Amino acid sequence: MGEALDAHRRFLVTTHLNPDGDGLGAELGLWAYLRSRGKDVRIVNPDPLSARYEFLAREGTYEPYDPESHEEFIEACEVVIVLDISRWDRLGVLGERLRRRKALTVCIDHHPFEANGMADLYGVDLTAAATGQLVYEMIRARGHAVDRKMALGFYISILTDTGSFRFSNSDSRAHRVAAELLQHDLDPSDIYEEVYGNSSLPRLRLLGASLAGLRVEAEGRLVVLVIPKESLRTTGAVPADTEGFVDIARTAQGCEGVALFLEREDGQVKLSLRSRGRLDVNRVASRFGGGGHVLASGATLEGPLDRAVEEVLGALRAGLDENRPGGTAGGPARRP
Ligand code: 5GP
Ligand code: MN
Repeated sequence: MGEALDAHRRFLVTTHLNPDGDGLGAELGLWAYLRSRGKDVRIVNPDPLSARYEFLAREGTYEPYDPESHEEFIEACEVVIVLDISRWDRLGVLGERLRRRKALTVCIDHHPFEANGMADLYGVDLTAAATGQLVYEMIRARGHAVDRKMALGFYISILTDTGSFRFSNSDSRAHRVAAELLQHDLDPSDIYEEVYGNSSLPRLRLLGASLAGLRVEAEGRLVVLVIPKESLRTTGAVPADTEGFVDIARTAQGCEGVALFLEREDGQVKLSLRSRGRLDVNRVASRFGGGGHVLASGATLEGPLDRAVEEVLGALRAGLDENRPGGTAGGPARRP
């Protein structure tokens, strides 16, 4: 893979819709690295930066995809690097365009992936805590140094994808890489504050309203948050403000699974699922055309909201039943 990077000059780097800290951090680090090698590189994403990650605009140039202005660059670009995802359909309209690319395609990811022919070269490692960690390891394996900006990107990847070093993927390898990255003049407390210490008031109000309406199902084994679009309107929040809500609900005593339903402006319903270990939420999300991991998954459903909620709850209850003694689902797994 390294040779492919050396041999070419013009690169497009991208990550999935609703970009998270891992995708955006990996992009920043890779962008800074390729620039340090004298490459012409641009980060072009299907979505703009959400408020939580707006501070990254001070560190790198993140461009939301604009079909007209990016056409020339895409046409001329030699390598497309897709981070944290291995499917064109999670890149929205940019994915539609990139399907017709001429460029060599490289995918660097840590999710279970299907050999769907998206990329020419794959750097996939399911045991990596974050995609940014993989990019860092790739650069170090080539014997190249990283600078402060690259280290910042990769650290944000690991920080956010390990849930601030809480999830089971926060293994010694992730901690070791994080320790190396901190040596580049980074302050963990400053970075944490940038990422997590900037909740807008609408976000906090929406969190309050959502928790006030918390539903408990299956004798407390399921916790459900339903956010109708009116809640966004009355609080002034935007969909990205709901990031992290499921993880708060997930802490409920006795809970095995959490579902968050977010009604979008167009009436479609964004589903987020989390498991505390025994419930396979990837299987549930797959039934609705989504996917993810055993412990964290998602999907987008057709409305109306009430029907989507009842259908998914039915599937979650069935999933819980499979985990009773004699059930078939697997045990605890890693996330994300
Ligand atoms: P979140 O609930 O934070 O949006 O997503 C959790 C995980 O579920 C993500 O890391 C991603 O792997 C997966 N995921 C979320 N939404 C979708 C979706 O619409 N389709 C698929 N295939 N996976 C999703
Ligand atoms: Mn990731």
